[in-house]
Amino acid sequence: MVIGNGHKTDLWRDAWIDDESLKDSLQLQKADLKGCRAKVCDVMINGQMVLEGSLLDIIEETDQGVHNIVRTHHEDEDYMVWRGDEKGKFSVASAYEVIRQKGQKVAWHNIIWKNHIHPTSAGSVWKLIQGCAATNDRLQKMGIQLASQCQVCHERAETLDHLLWDCRAAKQLWGWAAREFGVNGSFSSFMQAFKVVKHSLLIRTLWQAAVVGIAVSLWRNRNKIVFDGGRSNEAWLKMEVRRHICFADRVTKGGFTGSSREEDILARWGLAARVEELKLRKECKWYPPEALVIKINCDGASKGNPGQAGLGCVFRDCHGFFLLVKAKGIGFATNYEAECGAIMEGLEEAVKRGWLKVWVESDSTAAIQAFAHGSLPWRIAARWKLINSIFQFCLFSHNLREANFSADQAAKKGASLNLGEELSEEGKPPWIVRWENPDQVFVKA
Ligand SMILES: [Zn+2]
Repeated sequence: MVIGNGHKTDLWRDAWIDDESLKDSLQLQKADLKGCRAKVCDVMINGQMVLEGSLLDIIEETDQGVHNIVRTHHEDEDYMVWRGDEKGKFSVASAYEVIRQKGQKVAWHNIIWKNHIHPTSAGSVWKLIQGCAATNDRLQKMGIQLASQCQVCHERAETLDHLLWDCRAAKQLWGWAAREFGVNGSFSSFMQAFKVVKHSLLIRTLWQAAVVGIAVSLWRNRNKIVFDGGRSNEAWLKMEVRRHICFADRVTKGGFTGSSREEDILARWGLAARVEELKLRKECKWYPPEALVIKINCDGASKGNPGQAGLGCVFRDCHGFFLLVKAKGIGFATNYEAECGAIMEGLEEAVKRGWLKVWVESDSTAAIQAFAHGSLPWRIAARWKLINSIFQFCLFSHNLREANFSADQAAKKGASLNLGEELSEEGKPPWIVRWENPDQVFVKA
């Protein structure tokens, strides 16, 4: 629950301090609370929560911290949030995310689920890598009586390893494709296969598509023989592999270095060599605010995303003078949480100091949009609702990080602090070693 006036929230049975209600965290039974009708508003005086005496003792007995209580304006109604979702809104997808068993991420995960691999093929190859294919050896293990023989070559017992790496048709296909990429085609696992081609990003991308294409079409080739009869069709297999490579070539965005060896590889697959899109030189500046407006440059930093995180806010006036620099440790958080947290911290500090005309700037497009459109993470949303009507002027803007580096230094400083620990320096602290001058032009690398 987010607490406003406290009228709707049951003191004992609702989860308003943390993820659990007091009833659950103290393991009370229904009977224990018979006749207890207290609401959260009963522990409030003039809209302020007053937790003291035996109630505070009880709360401290649980693992819940009073600092976890999220408040909104004291005249507003309390409202429920769904903790499974960042924005606090319930959805079936977020509920599933909370209860599902997360499998371990595997090394090839980020190779397969990329847009240069068609999702249908990605799904098929994922099953093959997991060993979920109904090969004869697996059927035998399930107790189905059959003679295990590879239907492609009729030479060996059928196992998935044989089909993909060892079978005559497989060896031929791997050898052919690897030759066209200028590498040696002897490998016997997906990880080995994925790694064998070095070269530029484009060539590696095409090779990954080829590996997936080969595995998927070998499996389909086998199924066609088993279920429809007929023989292994080499021409069809090669065509399928080409199809996968062409698909990857169409959707991928360059990464071609222009070397003649790579040009050669592209030519062999009938693909046009192209020069990588020229990166535009982007220029940006740090603009000072108008007179009487305070500019707050904000940044968040998370070591590891998510990881040990911090936020930084730099307050400057229309002359570019430093009024205040804040750095704060926020514990374990994602980059996005740190970015939103930094903006929120800057706004709250401004209110505290009576700076009611502000211009907030951050290099996080997502965080700026969240504030501008009011679609914030629920904890931040509650804090923002508390103060947003106080401002006389409040502008949000995005700038490139190349013109937001003093806040970046503050955020990194924050990430080295413990949860809740903060540094607040009037003027410009000595550890801000570089800062944005209004006349300077910065270039995005
Ligand atoms: Zn075989």
